[in-house]
Amino acid sequence: MKKIFVVGAGFMGSGIAQVSAQSGYWVHLMDIQPEVTDKALGEIERSLEKLKEKGLLGESPRKVLERIVPEKSLSFVSESDWVIEAIFEDKQLKRHIFYELDRISRPETPLATNTSSIPISYLAENTRYPERVLGLHFFGPVPLMKLVEVVKGEKTSQEIFERGVAFVQSLGKTPIRVLRDIPCFVMNRIFSAALREAVDLVDQGIVRPEDVDVGMRLGYGWKAGPFEIADNAGLDTIVRITHTMRALGVDDLTPRSNLIERMVAQGQLGRKTGKGFYRYSPEGKRLYENNHL
Ligand code: NAD
Repeated sequence: MKKIFVVGAGFMGSGIAQVSAQSGYWVHLMDIQPEVTDKALGEIERSLEKLKEKGLLGESPRKVLERIVPEKSLSFVSESDWVIEAIFEDKQLKRHIFYELDRISRPETPLATNTSSIPISYLAENTRYPERVLGLHFFGPVPLMKLVEVVKGEKTSQEIFERGVAFVQSLGKTPIRVLRDIPCFVMNRIFSAALREAVDLVDQGIVRPEDVDVGMRLGYGWKAGPFEIADNAGLDTIVRITHTMRALGVDDLTPRSNLIERMVAQGQLGRKTGKGFYRYSPEGKRLYENNHL
């Protein structure tokens, strides 16, 4: 059975671990905060139980969970067939982890990053085998979202790129190919342009977040509006992505307003803290009354 090592057990890493285990892979899931890994396993179990209830899981949740092993260190990287990094969106942290992963993994093991914005080539620069570094940009919540951008760095080999596409398909996801390495890739650029405009209009008092979301759903056929997507992604993660984009010179896609930064400073991180642009129950269900800022 193929082994996947997932570094970072937060919102994205836990989702990637779950879909990998559901697809029959053996998964090592590691976080520098062991309590995050424990929490992730609990959330994965709840998610698998829901899938089972809906008839969307062919085996028992327990069987899938047995294929996910919590880790406190990177030692099993050396035995893994795929490594997927999903740690904080921070250029230096990620560059450092790629330096380490490159040294402890087998030279032929593909090293993937789930970064939303950092060029793959920047992360690969510090590695001895940059041809095996690629982007696998999953969308959250991973168990529900079908899309993965497969991103080719300047030095990614065509073989690894195509293996990335096949791996994504093996998870039951749909890959789209990003053929050249630019900051924020493709889907994030398009989404960021919409979110930038939406945040600026809300902060100027021109429109309420819920009306923007209704507008995008009913007017443009989006399944969720930009504020719903931002709350699900985590407003702290949105801020990290914004800072990274600015550091990469992609200022034209970031809001002029600091509304989201102000919300994060007040502990409003979106669904995960029960409050963001909307309010949520402790179980993460959206509350429809009194849902404005
Ligand atoms: P998160 O904050 O939920 O999780 C990140 C985890 O990484 C944390 O639990 C943290 O403890 C861990 N971590 C930090 N440094 C580490 C290290 N050196 N070793 C091991 N673990 C470490 O963040 P997230 O939303 O899961 O985002 C993770 C990555 O996925 C980011 O690059 C983000 O840009 C990208 N991404 C996020 C979304 C989204 O919707 N949130 C969508 C696509 C891509």
